[in-house]
Amino acid sequence: MRYAIISDIHANLEALEATLKDIKNQHVDKIICLGDVVGYYPNPNKCVSLCKKSGLISIRGNHDDAALELCPIDNFNPIAQEALLWTAEHLKKENKEWLQQLPDHLVVDDDFLAVHGSPWDPYAYIFSSAGALRSFSYMRTNYPNISICFFGHTHQKALYTSDENSVEEVTRGREYILGNSGLFLINPGSVGQSRDGIPGASYIIYHSEKRGIEFRHIPYDIETTQRKVRAAGLPMMLAERLSHGY
Ligand code: ZN
Repeated sequence: MRYAIISDIHANLEALEATLKDIKNQHVDKIICLGDVVGYYPNPNKCVSLCKKSGLISIRGNHDDAALELCPIDNFNPIAQEALLWTAEHLKKENKEWLQQLPDHLVVDDDFLAVHGSPWDPYAYIFSSAGALRSFSYMRTNYPNISICFFGHTHQKALYTSDENSVEEVTRGREYILGNSGLFLINPGSVGQSRDGIPGASYIIYHSEKRGIEFRHIPYDIETTQRKVRAAGLPMMLAERLSHGY
C-alpha cells in the first residue's frame, strides 16, 4: 500500500490544494491526516470540505478540539487563542460535526499508529530523544505488534529510530528504507504552517511493502494566504511566519 501522510493543515487552503495536487500524481491508496485540520488560517470550511471530498482519513488535533470547545483554550498562546475564537465562530455546523466524529488516534491497516502529538497523549509534543524514548516504551507496552508511529503537532519533520534501549534521530535526508527490526517515530512536518525554516508545505509518502519513507516539500501561493489572513482580520504574525517557515 502507498499512503500519503499529512498533518497540521490549519485551514490553509492554498497549502492544502497544492499538497493534494501533488498527492494525486503519487498514486496513493490512502491519505491519512494526523489532525489540526483547522485553527490559525482563514479557510476552515473550505479545508474541511476538501478533506471530505478527497476521502482522507483523519484524526483530531488540539486545535480541532479547541475550535469545537472540547478542550479549554487557556493553554494556547494569545495569537492561537484569537485564531481559535475566530475559527469557532466561522466553522459551519456540518463541518464541526465532521471534525467532532473523528477519533483522537488510529491504528491503520494493522500496520502503523497515527497520533497527533504522541502515543500516550494527543496534546504532548515530541521534540527530543527523551520524548521519543517515552513514546517507544509506550508503543512496546500498548501496541506490541506495531513498529511505526506517525505523529504531528510540532510542525517539524522528524524520524526517530529505536532498538531496545537507544534512540537515534536520523532526520537528514529525503528518502529512507525502514529496517525490519526496531521501532520508528515519524513526523511529516506541516501542510499549513511549516516550522522547519523552509516556507512551503510538507508531507510523507509511505510505501508499506518496501517500508519506504519519502519526505516531500511542496511550494504554494503563500501570498494569497497572507492576503486572506489580512482580509479576515486574523493576527498578521500568522501571515508573516509563512514567509519564513517558522
Ligand atoms: Zn498544529
